[in-house]
Amino acid sequence: MPQVVFRSIFAILFLWIGPMVWAETPVRLDLGESYVTDRGQGIEVQLRLNRATAYGLRLRDNPMRLIVDLAGVEVQNLPNGFDRADRAQAVTLGPAPRAGWGRLSLHLTAPMVIERAVMDTRHSDAVRLTLRLRPATAQEFATHLTPASADEPPQAVIAEPAPPLRTRPLIALDPGHGGIDPGAERDGYSEADLVLLFALELREMLLRDGLVDVFMTRERDEFIPLPYRMSRARMAGADLFISIHADALAAGDGMASGATVYTLSETGSDAASAALAAQHDRADLLAGVDLGQSDDVVADLLMDLARLETDPRSDALADALVTGLEGAGVELHSRPRLEANFTVLRAPDYPSVLLEIGFMSEGGDLENILDPVWRSRAQGGIARAIEAWLAEDNLRRSLMRR
Ligand SMILES: [Zn+2]
Repeated sequence: MPQVVFRSIFAILFLWIGPMVWAETPVRLDLGESYVTDRGQGIEVQLRLNRATAYGLRLRDNPMRLIVDLAGVEVQNLPNGFDRADRAQAVTLGPAPRAGWGRLSLHLTAPMVIERAVMDTRHSDAVRLTLRLRPATAQEFATHLTPASADEPPQAVIAEPAPPLRTRPLIALDPGHGGIDPGAERDGYSEADLVLLFALELREMLLRDGLVDVFMTRERDEFIPLPYRMSRARMAGADLFISIHADALAAGDGMASGATVYTLSETGSDAASAALAAQHDRADLLAGVDLGQSDDVVADLLMDLARLETDPRSDALADALVTGLEGAGVELHSRPRLEANFTVLRAPDYPSVLLEIGFMSEGGDLENILDPVWRSRAQGGIARAIEAWLAEDNLRRSLMRR
């Protein structure tokens, strides 16, 4: 079952288009506003649709082609002038193997790979899907080919409910551990309990400020597998995700004290960071949760594309948290910005960070975490950081749209 849920995390990548309405109206290509053209050294595909829909991208050989599958798209004859690209030999729009999907096939004159894929849904009745292809060596093209087994678009796509409409940003708070997994333990206290208390208090403060809504991945002492934490936040429509911890480092992993903010990277900043990330997978693995990586090339490709946009936003969020905590007078780790391969940070489609409010292995940190005055100060710093990040992120995104 957890495996199914984890797969659906990848499946939903095919949506990746923010709030949407899965109306039953057919999806139409606006042929007047859609085209394929040479762009730079590559090709640009512009598709204007009357509403947002799921899509999947595939690269195939013999002949070399890009396949764009679109859910619910009616098959139409493409007019002359639709394909303005010398680098695209032929473009056709026919039915996809899966019922109800349309398939655009673009035959390439030279090997190319997908550089960019963005569905702009700001205007719900004039949605624009932009794809950019760039030239590649035959060898690179070969590594980007989609295996035939991945031909069927994922089953879960249309079953995913649209997130509820919201006016305020939704902050997902993820208190680490819980249930069979107490996390770090010291002097009769467990990390699971302490970070839950911290997160509940932080939620109170954020809601009192009235600028954001809050979603909690858990509100009581229960075990929630890491992939569920991510999919729950996604289903709720979270705009950002903050996992809250207060770990202990094993003796030999060095001294650690003070608040630390982690972002995702495959290799940790140092041995202690890598050990910390591995430690967090252990409870899930013991509970039989599949944390395996995807073997789906399309999903991986889309993940990479999505990360191009999300990673800098996660970095900015982490920086804002460090600034906010520092401004609130919270003791910081000697290197407060670190990276590690935390499973819970692997969502490609919303920014996420993991915050160690302190380390329970350190007596002073534990004392702080038990002190309501310190907690309130730290929570205030986090709230200011979230507000600062939201303002900065809005600005950055509106500039990017220009
Ligand atoms: Zn932890």
